[in-house]
Amino acid sequence: MRNVGILIAGGGLAGLSTAWHLNDRPYLLVEKEIRTGGLVRSEVIRGCTFDITGHWLHLRNDHTRAMVSELLGDGLVQVSRKALILSHDRYVNYPFQSNLADLPSDVAALCAVDAVSAALAQASGNLNTINTFKDFALAHFGAGITREFIEPYNAKLWGVGIDEVTSDWCDRFVPVPDVLQIVRGAIQGRGQRTGYNATFLYPREGGIESLPKALTRRLPGDRILTGKTLRAVKPRQHQALVDDEWLRYDVLVSSLPLPVLAGILEDMDEKLKQAARGLRASRLVYAIGAVRGEPLIQGAHWLYLPQDDIPVYRFGVPSNVLSTLAPAGMSSFYAEFTPGFDGDEQEARKQLGRVLGLLGRDVRDLDFLELRRFPYGYVIFDEHRNQGVAELMSFFEQHAIHSIGRFGAWTYNAMEDALLDGRDTAQRITGEADGN
Ligand SMILES: Cc1cc2nc3c(=O)[nH]c(=O)nc-3n(C[C@H](O)[C@H](O)[C@H](O)COP(=O)(O)OP(=O)(O)OC[C@H]3O[C@@H](n4cnc5c(N)ncnc54)[C@H](O)[C@@H]3O)c2cc1C
Repeated sequence: MRNVGILIAGGGLAGLSTAWHLNDRPYLLVEKEIRTGGLVRSEVIRGCTFDITGHWLHLRNDHTRAMVSELLGDGLVQVSRKALILSHDRYVNYPFQSNLADLPSDVAALCAVDAVSAALAQASGNLNTINTFKDFALAHFGAGITREFIEPYNAKLWGVGIDEVTSDWCDRFVPVPDVLQIVRGAIQGRGQRTGYNATFLYPREGGIESLPKALTRRLPGDRILTGKTLRAVKPRQHQALVDDEWLRYDVLVSSLPLPVLAGILEDMDEKLKQAARGLRASRLVYAIGAVRGEPLIQGAHWLYLPQDDIPVYRFGVPSNVLSTLAPAGMSSFYAEFTPGFDGDEQEARKQLGRVLGLLGRDVRDLDFLELRRFPYGYVIFDEHRNQGVAELMSFFEQHAIHSIGRFGAWTYNAMEDALLDGRDTAQRITGEADGN
């Protein structure tokens, strides 16, 4: 049986970045799809370039900035986010909590008053402990903003109520203006740009997949095997079955979804298997397509739809970000459906017709539509998640397995995090090997 040194299973950004940072250490990367990139993939249909819904690059770290710049050079454009929310039949600038003046004045006033009450409760120390996302929203925004936007929108995205989701991930991803900003936004309505993605980068050509493509091109071709699936692992023996070949490894780096990895590990006790089975994620269901005529949603990049009678929670228009993503006279779009949406393409078309109606457009403008489904979209941070992940990670640590990336670490992350995860993992492995 041949020893491959470090076996990297999964060729998304986390796996590719691990390989990149391992430099000349012996490794083999196996990816089950016919090309690398994982979730960072682009497809072209009728001249329109689509990613998996929206994939916009936010780089806050010097290391990833340098890495991406080395890979894509000046092939990136910087874009200022233009996002809207459809609420009370009006377009409200995103983030909702900073732009209350875009709402009918009575709704805006109620939301602002509730935000002030929440701030007063916080200042007087009169606050419940924050455990759930709902606690977080009520504490930071008050009942009005929570009821009008945060609760209905997020329930559609996760497919579960926000009182079932913990607040662990919120600090980074939910923009929290202070109460003065909320009140000012209710009076001035300047469309304030706050939040972690106020500007982003995007490849000038080729869609977001240009990034993993550039990364893959820099890696030695004989160490990156696509169309190869990790099927079984014997953790005690350090052996892995890749398609029909057993390989020996010193270290296994996996970015497979945690429950999938746990399912193919032999010799794992029932308690751990149960911990893995208890992990929940929402499915990813979305439609892509194009509409003829004037640009959609007033040239904005995406639109949030909190209304609970339509199963689409976000509607994005890539061609408003970069006009070259669609032929002239066309608007390309993605429509993200609630995870529970089981309809076929015809049903998706019908629902999209309703969305287009809300946007003042006719379904007859629709040029084409295709539906896409993936089993994993968003990890659900419920009350079991932290303990389940900790138990599994502790087992992996004892067996030289690093489970990393969005679904490997079972987390809510961005492309930059996946790149950093790869770097940190490579550093840990080489540090361990060097005795550091
Ligand atoms: C809908 C959506 C929108 C997003 N939008 C953004 C955004 O705007 N900006 C941003 O920065 N991030 C965004 N992200 C997050 C980003 O996609 C991830 O952070 C990143 O791509 C995760 O990379 P990864 O390598 O961890 O996982 P993945 O990309 O999932 O890679 C895992 C790889 O493992 C492979 N694999 C699975 N099973 C096996 C097996 N048995 N054997 C071999 N290979 C296997 C898979 O094929 C895949 O290639 C978004 C994510 C989603 C779902």
